[in-house]
Amino acid sequence: MYWNERIETLSSGEMIDLQSAALRKTIRYTYDRVPFYRQRIDSLHINPDEINTLDDIVRLPFTVKADLRDQYPYGLCAVPLSDIQRLHASSGTTGQPTPVFNTRIDLDNWSGCMARNLYMAGVRKEDICQIAFKYTLFTGAFGHHLGADTIGAMVIPASSGQTERQVLMMRDFKTTVLHCTPSYAITITEKMDQMGISREDLCLRVGVHGAEPMSDSLRSEIEEKLGTLALGDYGLTELGGPGVSIECPAKAGYHINEDYFFPEVVNPETLEPVPEGETGELVLTTLKKHAMPLIRYRTRDITRLHRGPCACGRTLIRHAPILGRTDDMLIFGGVNVFPSQLESLLLEFEEASSHYLIRLTTEHRRDRITVEIEPVPGFSISGNPDQNAALIGKMTARIKDLIGITIGIKLVEPNTIPRSEGKAKRVVDER
Ligand code: ADP
Ligand code: ZN
Repeated sequence: MYWNERIETLSSGEMIDLQSAALRKTIRYTYDRVPFYRQRIDSLHINPDEINTLDDIVRLPFTVKADLRDQYPYGLCAVPLSDIQRLHASSGTTGQPTPVFNTRIDLDNWSGCMARNLYMAGVRKEDICQIAFKYTLFTGAFGHHLGADTIGAMVIPASSGQTERQVLMMRDFKTTVLHCTPSYAITITEKMDQMGISREDLCLRVGVHGAEPMSDSLRSEIEEKLGTLALGDYGLTELGGPGVSIECPAKAGYHINEDYFFPEVVNPETLEPVPEGETGELVLTTLKKHAMPLIRYRTRDITRLHRGPCACGRTLIRHAPILGRTDDMLIFGGVNVFPSQLESLLLEFEEASSHYLIRLTTEHRRDRITVEIEPVPGFSISGNPDQNAALIGKMTARIKDLIGITIGIKLVEPNTIPRSEGKAKRVVDER
């Protein structure tokens, strides 16, 4: 049931001991090897050996994405280039791609984290894993590949795109586990409909979907259409890629591999730690990285931490599904709202498909949010103004009730919202 039972069920006292020792080692290692960190720590007049307990970590400065850009290309590298075996880079959603490095040990640790995660999701040696994340500089495909490979499963490195071929491979090779973004999973189900292939023609049992938020409604749609148990996995390039955390089958949060990553949640404005259970920005410190250790890296991802028994028996701390990134937060009429919150409310309507786009505009100097959404096939929008107005009315009322803002909703014809093969672009800012 566990990939590494000892670590996955460690008591919290034992985990704290293990993390404290790893933290001390990381700070010393980083201080000695990365001039960027040495200067930072020196400028605060901190002796790295004073950082003894996990509570001491708050004395250390944060690392942010801009630091990674400033240190481009090799400034944060803690080992000689001859020890680096693999370079990856972020997909560049918010600017210039930033590289990350791995030594042999980093790659082995990554494989171990991903094997643990996929095993938690139910992947076994007997499985046939189709990796439909894009094989590029991006870490997604490689992380999933390494994890499935370490478990000993059969790996199909399909990459993303060529969706018809993707579906045929799933059918012919009897794929049991699909690895892709949630939005690409939906694109695949649509292609299946067009090809007349249903879940009964496939052998899928598990879907592991990461790189973007997956609301419960979207999850249900994927599970229903593919016949899978769909679980989210989380990671980010700067921390090495996927492998930071994953949902267990209890679907009650994402277990963090906290022997590799020490998590904190801070208020993104004051940067003060928030009490456990409160929402804020996730900050991660690597505990075992060799090539590119990071101290207190601000992920910009909004979530909350929760320690406490999980139905699966694991004691690894959990974080709630990521609400979104601070960069994606929409501030509207004084209310903070994430695209994922709009998604989960709108997709509760059975008339709504999961194809939507949030358009931000300005009218008379006031911001406006309009969600363009395709109704499900079978709900024809032409010639039915009353029916359309009724649906729009119910949707806007629901959002007003739960989030407290008034947005515009526009029903659009089928196939007008662009389909995704990776991370879906949900927001278009025309302000
Ligand atoms: P970027 O998008 O910055 O180029 P990455 O490809 O490394 O970089 O993407 C990492 C980001 O993707 C995370 O910081 C987070 O915002 C998002 N992400 C990854 N997994 C999930 C998940 N399961 N749920 C929500 N968001 C996720
Ligand atoms: Zn669990």
